[in-house]
Amino acid sequence: MLEVKNLTVSIDGRTILDELNLTVQDGEVAAIMGPNGTGKSTLSYVIAGRKDYTIESGEVLLNGVNLLDLEPDVRAAHGVFLAFQYPLEIPGVATMTFLKAALNAQRKQRGEAELTTPEFMKRVKGAADKLEIKQEMLKRALNVGFSGGEKKRMDILQMALLEPSFAILDETDSGLDIDALRIVASGVNALRSPKRSFLIITHYQRLLDYIVPDTVHVMTKGKIVKTGGADLAVELEKSGYRDYSVEEAAA
Ligand code: ADP
Ligand code: MG
Ligand code: MG
Repeated sequence: MLEVKNLTVSIDGRTILDELNLTVQDGEVAAIMGPNGTGKSTLSYVIAGRKDYTIESGEVLLNGVNLLDLEPDVRAAHGVFLAFQYPLEIPGVATMTFLKAALNAQRKQRGEAELTTPEFMKRVKGAADKLEIKQEMLKRALNVGFSGGEKKRMDILQMALLEPSFAILDETDSGLDIDALRIVASGVNALRSPKRSFLIITHYQRLLDYIVPDTVHVMTKGKIVKTGGADLAVELEKSGYRDYSVEEAAA
């Protein structure tokens, strides 16, 4: 279970997250929707451990462990995964090599033995097949010359291999055509399990037609202002965020 308690975060003295509270149960798929600039990405970066932010107060607990005390790689070993945190192009490093290094770094941090090449190949092949990723693509340099959809599929592949307990997808849908969106969504849906939670961050409702969330939270100005079920996303698509924003801040 992830619990964000009274989290206040600033950048350069400006408050971005404002006493934010959020709970995501084991196995739950939670969506956060909200206008641009409201702090959704900041929340995902703070959970994953990026350093640019000042934590003014609050806690982020994953199964009772305060993630804010831990380095990003230790958080990853605890099962935190942020998709598209590193949408890097790495010329000269085969995708396969990168994936193996990422997986073995996590295992090492957990005190587990490194996977042998045949063990790794078996896992990567099984996961790649499900995501309709060709073996040939895994031999190419990571993300170099990949289309937007291919990069995102590769990220889902990385997620499938790392088997996170808490996976965050930040604006996965932006720039995806409908076929890529379906593949990404079915990859995510295949990874849904009672032990794995997801935080799906999106500006639009479209992705949530394919990954149907258990819970939808509306975020504006650094706070969760409304929580509901999957129908809340449909409602928001019609009404927009207007009802939740400016008036409250002015009051
Ligand atoms: P969202 O993902 O909801 O669009 P962000 O978390 O990206 O929102 O941004 C929230 C606010 O914080 C915005 O006003 C943005 O300009 C600001 N912000 C985010 N990251 C930085 C940064 N590294 N330096 C300065 N301002 C930032
Ligand atoms: Mg934004
Ligand atoms: Mg964002």
